[in-house]
Amino acid sequence: MASDNKQAMGIGYKAQIEKYGTPISRDLYLELRKYADEHRIRITGFRNFVGDIETIKTVIDDICEIAVDFPKILDKRMGIILELDYDMNDADFSTTDSGHVIKINAGYFSDIDKLEQDYIEQEKKGHFVSNTGWRSVVRHEVGHVVENLYGFDIMEIAFIYANTTNRIELFDYLDENLSVYSTAYEDGREIISESFSGYYSKVGNIFADSFVKKCIELKDKMDLSMKGR
Ligand SMILES: [Zn+2]
Repeated sequence: MASDNKQAMGIGYKAQIEKYGTPISRDLYLELRKYADEHRIRITGFRNFVGDIETIKTVIDDICEIAVDFPKILDKRMGIILELDYDMNDADFSTTDSGHVIKINAGYFSDIDKLEQDYIEQEKKGHFVSNTGWRSVVRHEVGHVVENLYGFDIMEIAFIYANTTNRIELFDYLDENLSVYSTAYEDGREIISESFSGYYSKVGNIFADSFVKKCIELKDKMDLSMKGR
């Protein structure tokens, strides 16, 4: 999830970790690992985390909430790997790699107040879904993982709920009613992720709610047809 704030975060976070804070103790690290294991989420890169492990537990809880609807995201092989990335210096909050590796920016996730502040600043400008906050960052990325694992036709679903068949009208509608970031790519890849951001943050965004409910309905149909075989 890219912010539109072009100012770079600063290079080499890992090399200057002391500037950001003291890495968590081994006990806290083990506590976090245990929590992740119990929730079937693989984590990596957290040994030198300088933030609050409760933040990461919240992220894990948020992923598990979405997994109730889309269980494949906890698949042993193809499920989510949560990685703390020390080298994300381009003002990205997070990215999704290889379809299921969610990388979160260490600079932001070790300072949740800064993340919330920067996020809200852009949410207020319409860049992100109205009334969402920092927890939407990972919910957004989970949308990309779900798309990768379930293969929904994003544009087809979007046209239904924007009530148009015209691509320009659709993107205008989404800019107004979902978020500006949802139209960042012509192929519509950010529509599902911004919809996940809105739906799971329970902010009452009508398009996001309809879009994700349709995805859940389609997933249920896939399950049924699998059983029928
Ligand atoms: Zn995205």
